[in-house]
Amino acid sequence: MTETNSKLNKFMQRDAAVILYGNAVAGILISLLTSSFLVFAFSYPRIDPLKKIWWWVMTCLLLIRFFDMIWWEVKLKKTQFDGNIATIRFITGANLTALMWSVYLVYCTTQGNDIELTTTIIAIAAMAGGSSTVLAAHKYTAIFFPCILLTPGSIGLILSDQKHLQLLGILGLSFSIVMLVISRNSAKFTANTLFLKNENSILVHQMEEKVKQRTHKIYELSNLDPLTRLFNRTAFLEQLKVVTTTPQKPFALLFIDLDGFKKINDSIGHKAGDDILRETANRLSQFTKDSQLLCRWGGDEFLIVFSDIDEASAVEKSKQLIALLSEPHNTENSILSVGATIGIALYPIHAKTEDRLIQLADMAMYYQKKQMRSAVCVFTEEMEKLFAYDLHLKNGLTKAIENKQLRLVFQPIICSKTLNIAAFEALLRWQLDDENIPPDEFIPIAEQYGLIHEIGAWVLQHACMQAKQWDNKREIIVCVNVSIIQLQDENFIGIVEEALSSSLLPAELLHIEITESVFASDLVVITNQIKSLQSMGVQVSIDDFGTGYSSLSAMQDLAVNMVKIDRSFVNKVDSNGKAIISAVMHMSSALNFTVIAEGVETEEQSQALLQLGVHYFQGYYYSRPIEIENIPSYLESKHSNTA
Ligand code: C2E
Ligand code: CA
Ligand code: CA
Repeated sequence: MTETNSKLNKFMQRDAAVILYGNAVAGILISLLTSSFLVFAFSYPRIDPLKKIWWWVMTCLLLIRFFDMIWWEVKLKKTQFDGNIATIRFITGANLTALMWSVYLVYCTTQGNDIELTTTIIAIAAMAGGSSTVLAAHKYTAIFFPCILLTPGSIGLILSDQKHLQLLGILGLSFSIVMLVISRNSAKFTANTLFLKNENSILVHQMEEKVKQRTHKIYELSNLDPLTRLFNRTAFLEQLKVVTTTPQKPFALLFIDLDGFKKINDSIGHKAGDDILRETANRLSQFTKDSQLLCRWGGDEFLIVFSDIDEASAVEKSKQLIALLSEPHNTENSILSVGATIGIALYPIHAKTEDRLIQLADMAMYYQKKQMRSAVCVFTEEMEKLFAYDLHLKNGLTKAIENKQLRLVFQPIICSKTLNIAAFEALLRWQLDDENIPPDEFIPIAEQYGLIHEIGAWVLQHACMQAKQWDNKREIIVCVNVSIIQLQDENFIGIVEEALSSSLLPAELLHIEITESVFASDLVVITNQIKSLQSMGVQVSIDDFGTGYSSLSAMQDLAVNMVKIDRSFVNKVDSNGKAIISAVMHMSSALNFTVIAEGVETEEQSQALLQLGVHYFQGYYYSRPIEIENIPSYLESKHSNTA
């Protein structure tokens, strides 16, 4: 409010100065003409030397005021000048002029020339009358200007001894009093008008400002991503459309996806996730200072356009970006890092429309993520075929259960000492239009599109139901592969309970196999899930051991029941695989887990593994995975072998 008031004051002072200076020429000219007429016309031919001096002083004063007015007109008027200072300058000149007139009138009263005196009084009174409007923009000058002009002279006349001069004095004094009232009203009116005018213009200005702010806010809401302040999808697409529809130099569109962001978001929390996204957006903005085309596409995905660039430079820039985005983030409590994988599509080589370019860059990114994260990849047609195949699989998988295309086969796990069957591993098979799709191909797709939950539950249910029908006396265990995504699901324990209770299979006969990739995920969640399973009586194995991420301390924390040595080591049991397997055997006695060797294909391998103390064998040497209908006869043959 006070800010508005001081603004209003400033505007009013400036307007007042404009009015005062605007009338200055008239005032100065009238004073010059009147003074010249009074001094030279009455005294001619003998000019009173004192009046002449007065005239010179008056003329100089008027000249100074004139030049001041010219200077104001030329230099100041169009600037944001200080109205107060300009007004003070003006009224100093005006009041000095008034004083000069007052001196003149007083001097005339002492000269005893009645006609001259009367003429002078009339002339000065006329000037005093005119001043009420000319000076109305400055209240005190407007009020006192006529008084200064007339009052001293009039009082001088009243004090004289001649009656007609006394009457003239009374007339002058009355006139100056009337003028005082009129000037006061006129000044009040002018001030009021200026106030209303400026108040209105300030209100209009404030309104315009508000509209501007609202428009800006609406623009932000509809065009900017609230978290990162980067363009959102809509705004980016609009800008990109402009670029693709006007003839253009080549450009590169980068699809950037952060690596490891989801893990931070899930395990450390959304606040840390938000901090990382904001900081990533900052780094991207700084890197692409002159590019307008940068957006948060969604989640942890960002798009950038680099104009006028060839493939090699786009790849080079992407590598720099990956390095920049992979630098650690200092969040509130910890130092976190994410990576970035980038896919590139080039205009106009790969596509000419914005939607297609984004789709192809996304495809290249997706392809690269599958091969190796935190690297860059330029789109090729090969990728499109692979992507189409993936999509074909995904569409088929969504209906695979409904269309009864899924089935389980079971591969025996043999005790190394007794050669008895200890367990069967359930392995999933999918037949799509006469084609057997290997699980290594479709499981990752099921995981990626979230289909693994439904499929995994189906596997658990059917594996338990099958196991229940096997030879009850020998208590054969069933091992079920569970994807890490299933294990992280909060409903997972419920799904296992349901599979056990509906099949009536004792929990002790169910083993869950999880791959070593668990060590790369949130260990707290995983450890809790494993503990819950174990408290139910279900055992847990680490699958494909040795291929990835396991650490000794994590093994200790997880306290799994079994470890399955990956077949790549079993393959090399006669060379460098031996050392690793014997190290695992040492660990097994220290950490109290049993060891299964996977992919045993030869007699020699089984002998070597037996010597190393491996507890169980699984592999083609003993049996390939068996179809459900062949299990009874397989068990029967084994039974008769061992009997
Ligand atoms: P895995 O769990 O390591 O399963 C063992 C794989 O090795 C099976 O391949 C099996 O057929 C194969 N195998 C067994 N013995 C030998 C051998 O002596 N030599 C060779 N070369 N291979 C042998 P499969 O059935 O193709 O399964 C591949 C992978 O797919 C599995 O690896 C597992 O990770 C995944 N998978 C299979 N079924 C399921 C399932 O129901 N759920 C989940 N999440 N994953 C599954
Ligand atoms: Ca397995
Ligand atoms: Ca395995």
